[in-house]
Amino acid sequence: MRCLAIDIGGTKIAVALVENQLISQRQQIVTPQDHDGSGMRQVLKDIVQQYQGKFDYIAVASTGIINQGILTALNPKNLGGLAHFPLYDNLASVSKKPIFLLNDVQAAAFAEYQHEDQSAVKNFVFITVSTGVGGGIIQNGHLLTEPNGVAGHIGHTLADPNEVMCGCGRRGCVEAVASGRAIEAVSSQWDNPCSPKEVFERFRQNDEKATALVERSAKAIANLIANLRISLDTQKIVIGGSVGLAEGYLPLVEKYLKKQPYFYRCPLRTAQFGGDAGLIGAAAWGEYNFHHKNTK
Ligand SMILES: [Zn+2]
Repeated sequence: MRCLAIDIGGTKIAVALVENQLISQRQQIVTPQDHDGSGMRQVLKDIVQQYQGKFDYIAVASTGIINQGILTALNPKNLGGLAHFPLYDNLASVSKKPIFLLNDVQAAAFAEYQHEDQSAVKNFVFITVSTGVGGGIIQNGHLLTEPNGVAGHIGHTLADPNEVMCGCGRRGCVEAVASGRAIEAVSSQWDNPCSPKEVFERFRQNDEKATALVERSAKAIANLIANLRISLDTQKIVIGGSVGLAEGYLPLVEKYLKKQPYFYRCPLRTAQFGGDAGLIGAAAWGEYNFHHKNTK
């Protein structure tokens, strides 16, 4: 089946045709930064018209939360002010094909799950540690998306109630401690300030302050993994994102996870898909749901 896959990010929108996990006619558009949704409406209409006749269904992976076909966010600043956008209805007004919508990290989780032996691994979590911290949860072989699209926002579980405020309005979320943004909030205040990327370079040169900052992040992620394992009986966890994939980070997470009692530990691996995980995952999930007759 041919999918028109759309990956809506905070700054760019990726579009492609996807068939059997193969991508073609890929293009990238700047995400409209308008508050009333008119720019987004026009972009979606143009995309559908451009690929007309070339696809059997539409699948969208988007940053934010997809709640009953409405695109929203825990932190609307991440969506250029788009706090409430009727994504499903807008696409349905320009195409009669089936439409499937999910969060972009949920989509990436579904893509990564395609790499697993699904008869053995039923409970699976993908964690991205990037500008923010996000996740997607597969439980008993099914990706959790319903009923409100919130499942998998594990970056907003609690790391430390005495820590700094998170963009979502809660204090001490994992994201507020472990994310690239959290690292930058500290490193930008140093006497010799630097970017998160340089924090990792200094960490690899055994700089004391940089090491403490990376360790703070890795500890929070190790605790998150332990919490997931003991809550969901997670069998495998995949780590992605610019921080998650930074050299030396995963071994550090593993080091802290090994300090946990046996039942809290979980096998880890790094993500296989790069920037196209959203497109591929949305297409695969759309096809899966197409066969299960679930169209929203
Ligand atoms: Zn939060």
